[in-house]
Amino acid sequence: MADYDVVVVGAGNAGMTASAAMAQKGLKVLLLEKHNIPGGCGTSFCRGRFEFEVALHQLSGIGTAENPGPLQMMLRDLGVFEDLEFVEIPELFRVVMPGTIDVRLETNKEQVMAELQGHFPKEKEGIEKFFDLCYAFSTQMLSVFYFNDPDATREKYPILYEYAFKTSQEVIDAHFSDPLLKAVISVYWGYLGLPPNRLSFAYLAILYFSFIEFKAFHVKGGSQAMSNAIVNKFLSHGGEVRFNCGAQKILVGSDGVNGVVTEHGEEISTRYVVSNASPVATYLQLLDPEHVPDQVHTEMRGRSLSMSGFTLYMGLDCEPGDVGIEDSTSFVMSNTETGDKVYDQMQQLRVEDDLMVLSCYNIADPDFSPKGTSQVSLVTLKFGEPWLRLPPTDYFREKYLSADNMLRTLEKVYPDIRDRIEELEVGTPLTHMRYLGHPAGSIYGFQQQMKDSLFFQPGGESPIKGLYFASGWAGDPGFQPTLEAGKAAAKSVLKELGA
Ligand SMILES: Cc1cc2nc3c(=O)[nH]c(=O)nc-3n(C[C@H](O)[C@H](O)[C@H](O)COP(=O)(O)OP(=O)(O)OC[C@H]3O[C@@H](n4cnc5c(N)ncnc54)[C@H](O)[C@@H]3O)c2cc1C
Repeated sequence: MADYDVVVVGAGNAGMTASAAMAQKGLKVLLLEKHNIPGGCGTSFCRGRFEFEVALHQLSGIGTAENPGPLQMMLRDLGVFEDLEFVEIPELFRVVMPGTIDVRLETNKEQVMAELQGHFPKEKEGIEKFFDLCYAFSTQMLSVFYFNDPDATREKYPILYEYAFKTSQEVIDAHFSDPLLKAVISVYWGYLGLPPNRLSFAYLAILYFSFIEFKAFHVKGGSQAMSNAIVNKFLSHGGEVRFNCGAQKILVGSDGVNGVVTEHGEEISTRYVVSNASPVATYLQLLDPEHVPDQVHTEMRGRSLSMSGFTLYMGLDCEPGDVGIEDSTSFVMSNTETGDKVYDQMQQLRVEDDLMVLSCYNIADPDFSPKGTSQVSLVTLKFGEPWLRLPPTDYFREKYLSADNMLRTLEKVYPDIRDRIEELEVGTPLTHMRYLGHPAGSIYGFQQQMKDSLFFQPGGESPIKGLYFASGWAGDPGFQPTLEAGKAAAKSVLKELGA
C-alpha cells in the first residue's frame, strides 16, 4: 500500500497546478519543495520595506470577463481564479532606443499598427500584413492544437502549414526593410529567449496575438500571491506539502516508480511521481543510472540549456513619474542587432549593451510598494556557463560591474533613476541556479530552437512507468504554459489511474 498516490517534486507553477488538480479529483498527493516557499520562479523576497517580485512581468492568457483567456478558464476550473485579483496592464510595451526611437504600443491591434505606421510610414502595408498574419497564424494554430481539430489538413490550415517552420527573422525580413522597424517588431524575443534568427515565428505570432487579444495582466500581491492561492487550494483538497524538503532520489523497481527518498532520508512509497525539476536533474541526480534508458541520454544530448537572467531588483524612494517612468513595460535597446551577434553576446559574462526590459509594477497597481515608493526590475538574458567559470573571488565585482553597466544604459532614458534607488538586489544566473536547482540557472528550460519548438515537444510522458514531467522543460516556459502543463500532467496521471 503506497503512502501517497502521487508525489510531486517541486512547487513551481506546473508542480503546484498538477498537485491541486490531482487532489481536487480525490488523489492523495504529497508536494515536496526544497525551498521554504511555493512558486519556483513565481515567488517574492523582501529587502528593506520592499517585497520584490522575482519573475512575473506580464501574465498572458487571462483575458477579460467578456473574452476569457485559456488561463482564466483553467484557474477557474481549479477554483483559484476567484481567490485572486488580476490587474490589467494597459500597454503592450514601450520600446526605446535612446536618441533613435521611442514607441508606445497598447493592447489593441489597430493602435499597434497605427503607432508603428506613424513611425515608419514607408512600411505601412507590411505592418498591416504582418499583424494580420500573426492573427491568422495564431487562430489556425489554436484550432489545431488547442481545440484539437481532427481534420487538420494543409488545405484547411494553409497559413499554419506555410509558416510553422519559419523563423521570426524570415517572416520579418519578408515584410519589412527598415532594420530599426525589424528590431522594434521583434523586441519580444527578450521574453522568448532566442534572437529572431533562431526563434520560431510561431512564438512571436502567438505572443502578439495573445497579449493583444487576451491582454496583459499582473496579480495583486505579485506572483507569490498566485502561488500561495494554488497551494492553499491544494491543501483545502487534503493535499500535503513539505517545504525545505527536496526529493533526493526517485526509487524505481521492475514495474516502474515505487517511491521517493527525501533529502532528510525519509522513504515515501508511491507509484507515481510528477517531476517539476528539470529532466537533467531528474534523470542524472534523482534516478539511479541503471533506470535511465540510453535513449534519454541521446535525446538530452541533442538539446541545449536555455539562457538564464540577470536582474536588478530596485526599490525607488519616489513615485514612478518622479523619474519619468510612465509605462509598466519598457524594452531598452542599444542597437538594432537581431542575429547571431546577439546570441554570442548572451554568452558573454558581462552585460554591455544587451537588450533589457524594465518593469514598473506601480503603474498598473499603485499599491504594489509602500506609499511614495515604486518597485522596478531591470532584466536581461544571459547564459549561465560564463558565470559558472568565474572564480568565486571575482563574483561580486563582476556582478556589480554588470549592474552598473545596465544602470548607465537606463540613465540614458531615465536620467535621475540611480539617485532614487533605496534598495537594490542583483540576481545573476548563479542566483537562479541556487534557488531553482536548474542546470546553469536556465530559466526557460531547454532552448526552443526550431527543431525543439512547440511542434516537437516531448510533453509530460517519460519512458519510466509512473514518472511524469511538468515544467518549462517538458513544454514551453512562461507562467501560462507552465501553469497549464501541470494541469495536463495531472490529466495523464488521473487517466492512468482511472480516477
Ligand atoms: C527573472 C525571470 C523573469 C521571468 N519573466 C516572465 C514573465 O514575465 N512572464 C512569463 O510568462 N514568464 C516569465 N518567466 C519564466 C517563468 O517564470 C517560468 O517559465 C516558470 O515560472 C517556470 O515554472 P516551472 O513550473 O517550470 O517551475 P520552476 O519555476 O522552474 O520551479 C521549479 C521548482 O522545483 C523545485 N525543485 C527543484 N528540484 C527539486 C527537488 N529535487 N526537490 C524538491 N523541489 C525541487 C525548485 O525549488 C522550484 O521551486 C521569468 C522567469 C524568471 C526567472
